[in-house]
Amino acid sequence: MRYISTRGQAPALSFEEVVLTGMASDGGLYVPETVPRLSHENLAAMAGLSYAEIAFRVMQPYVGGEIDDETFRGIVRDAYATFSHDAVVPLNQLDANHFLLELFHGPTLAFKDVALQLLGRILDHFLAKRGERAVIMGATSGDTGSAAIEGCRHCDNLDIFILHPHNRVSEVQRRQMTTVLADNVFNIAIEGNFDDAQAMVKASFADQAFLNGTRLVAVNSINWARIMAQIVYYVASAVALGAPHRAVSFCVPSANFGNVFAGYMAYRSGLPVKQFIVATNANDILHRTLAANDFSKRELVATLAPSMDIVVSSNFERLLFEAYGRDGAAVAALLERFQVEPTALAEAPLASLRERFASHSVDDATILEAIREAHHRTQEILDPHTATGYRAAERARADAETPMITLATAHPAKFAEAVVKAGFPGVPLPPHMEDLLEREERYVVLPAELTEVQKFVAENRR
Ligand SMILES: *Cc1c(COP(=O)(O)O)cnc(C)c1O
Repeated sequence: MRYISTRGQAPALSFEEVVLTGMASDGGLYVPETVPRLSHENLAAMAGLSYAEIAFRVMQPYVGGEIDDETFRGIVRDAYATFSHDAVVPLNQLDANHFLLELFHGPTLAFKDVALQLLGRILDHFLAKRGERAVIMGATSGDTGSAAIEGCRHCDNLDIFILHPHNRVSEVQRRQMTTVLADNVFNIAIEGNFDDAQAMVKASFADQAFLNGTRLVAVNSINWARIMAQIVYYVASAVALGAPHRAVSFCVPSANFGNVFAGYMAYRSGLPVKQFIVATNANDILHRTLAANDFSKRELVATLAPSMDIVVSSNFERLLFEAYGRDGAAVAALLERFQVEPTALAEAPLASLRERFASHSVDDATILEAIREAHHRTQEILDPHTATGYRAAERARADAETPMITLATAHPAKFAEAVVKAGFPGVPLPPHMEDLLEREERYVVLPAELTEVQKFVAENRR
């Protein structure tokens, strides 16, 4: 399998190169050159298989033989053995035809574990094969750093450095990162805000001289392997509800659009999907674009669903590439204009997107209302991200007959603040995390100065 850039100018790469590369040299994102086919027979044969086996079958064409089948099976099996539910991502039926797909049974209680548990292991495999080591650097405002750390803690060939703003993340969030005491995990509390931390990571990727030739790898959601891992649960959940013999719909709490784009890839491969509903919080660029063709940036709003607080949806570019008939030059022109001024999609691409995608935006007051309403009707306590999806699914679904699968992207205990605001007592942490507040922590505090941070990384990598 070859991968090509959404902006049409960068060289095509293999799977191995794409996983190690991140962003394309022309500023675009990599997508597979052809979409593997999931035939009616392929899908029908998945009924009753384990999640790990479905994962192997769905992802194998994307890996394209660059990891031998038995090794890849082992990687997949190990990645999903870290989940605390035997079904890995269980379906929970809310009412006659609305289901929650619980993606939060991984080590850090949010759906990013599904992709990062796999990505860390794939990176480690390729690095071992090449006899290389690599450094991962990332910045987090609180919720996503821990998933990257958990994904890499067992990797022999990777050192991971995660920057978070000192005293500006919650205690539970900090401890999910700093209580991982592995030798290759380094937490850096920056005396500054999230933007300072992110700027230093960006600058380090732009000029990697401080690492003397060691590769710096990005594990953010533009990495193709993360999308690939997420395609699997769309297929597995649809098959569990009767695909390929009947279609389903999905509602996806969205920010950078990586999650819902993975669903779109499953659809393009042949999975029968009637509708995708894109749910957003008050940071509604995706909803404004799909509903009103207003493709423009707005100022960031801090919401009760913080993992969906974004200004720009990086992975939306991958969908635009498809909507524009894979015309990289048109995508590049559109996104260059978008960077400097409010813009709009051309009519034909927008119309094609609207055939499959609906959208709905949910403000903070409505998130609280949705948490209460879902509890009243189903006894479930939803996390605030999942609550945007629950509300959007009820409001924007095309019909009542097609099963609706809303993606539950986080465990409510991880975002207890919103749950308490909605009027519930706190949600206890699951058993494997009960003693989190007593565990030993390890992190360093550094000033928001690029040279200090880079010196620390260069000296501590193994
Ligand atoms: C990252 C995240 C999202 C948004 O996912 P995207 O792939 O960026 O659209 C939604 N909910 C939770 C809990 C998340 O961590």
